[in-house]
Amino acid sequence: MKFNTKTIHGGQENVDPAYGSVMPPIYQTTTYSQSTPGGHKGFEYSRSGNPTRANLEKSLASLENGNFGLAFGSGLAAIDAVLKLFKPGDEIISTNDLYGGSYRLFTRIFEGLGIKFHFVGMQDAEGIEEYINENTKLIWVETPTNPMMNIIDIAEVSKIAKKHDLLLAVDNTFATPYLQQPLGLGADIIMHSATKYLGGHSDVVMGGLVVNDKELADKLYFIQNASGAICGPQDSFLVLRGIKTLHIRMQRHCENGAAVAKFLRSNPKVDKVYWPGFEDHPNHDIARKQMSGFGGMISFTTKANTLESATKIVEKLKIFTLAESLGGVESLAGHPASMTHASIPKVDREKTGVVDSLIRLSVGIEDEEDLIADLSQAIG
Ligand SMILES: *Cc1c(COP(=O)(O)O)cnc(C)c1O
Repeated sequence: MKFNTKTIHGGQENVDPAYGSVMPPIYQTTTYSQSTPGGHKGFEYSRSGNPTRANLEKSLASLENGNFGLAFGSGLAAIDAVLKLFKPGDEIISTNDLYGGSYRLFTRIFEGLGIKFHFVGMQDAEGIEEYINENTKLIWVETPTNPMMNIIDIAEVSKIAKKHDLLLAVDNTFATPYLQQPLGLGADIIMHSATKYLGGHSDVVMGGLVVNDKELADKLYFIQNASGAICGPQDSFLVLRGIKTLHIRMQRHCENGAAVAKFLRSNPKVDKVYWPGFEDHPNHDIARKQMSGFGGMISFTTKANTLESATKIVEKLKIFTLAESLGGVESLAGHPASMTHASIPKVDREKTGVVDSLIRLSVGIEDEEDLIADLSQAIG
């Protein structure tokens, strides 16, 4: 099956053996009758497994070309499950420019439990090796990074991970499996905030993991059930529904993203524009190699370069909504320093480029002319 067919049919054989409904039924149930103790039809209790969630988990695995999918109540719940694979004394090397909530989970929860993190700029993969020692267990990669749109060479990082017998996890939220499939590049674990492009309609918070290795899948399944951060059947249905149009939404996100990035670059009041599709983006060649398109996420700064200038722009926008989150059909604008990345200390933030004037756009699938006119009037 090719990708566009998978979004609609992947892992969805026989979704409703009872009546043949085309969409998977929403099994709004906590428990399942047994004919004799242990005599059930594959489901016992909905924390351990639910048929609607199972449909979604199979769909996620299919999209990422993986063997096993697991769905969680949020992206962070999915990351939390991955981190519970490790024990005090273990060390993790993470991308330094990453989603603020991931950073908060790493430093405010898991560091306190004895796991050590190294936050490393990975645009040059070789730099990772100096942080590896006998306690290192995992490399955590986010690419493109949020919000600076850096690109990390997954295949190169994977070579380093394999050489030192480490797991490699990739947060594939920004790219989605439509643009980038990290398992094929050597990753062991794919993580998604399905809240974003997979759901695609800004109406559900959800997370997912995909892995190939059975033993790793079993460990993660144990954690999913034992810790219990699962998603409900209604939300599973919504994400399954969202996934059915992932390919056409992503195509439009990419087209509109390119148009908006080029417009911003041509605007005399705009200073830097961060978008991996530009040929002079430092890792444009890697983006070209590992992604099939450049997506709809763009960050930029203005020449005025003040908090006030950025605030004025985001307040003036009419079609772009000032809001956290990304990846929905509607265009959103965010101010990372005060919103998504406020949990990262200012000095650390600014080291990676998250200055006070930075604005991040999630370019939606509206008409490109309307989006550009809106930005034009707001930037002034
Ligand atoms: C939103 C996001 C997360 C966290 O996911 P939630 O669903 O909000 O818990 C993790 N990584 C990235 C890149 C994100 O954008």
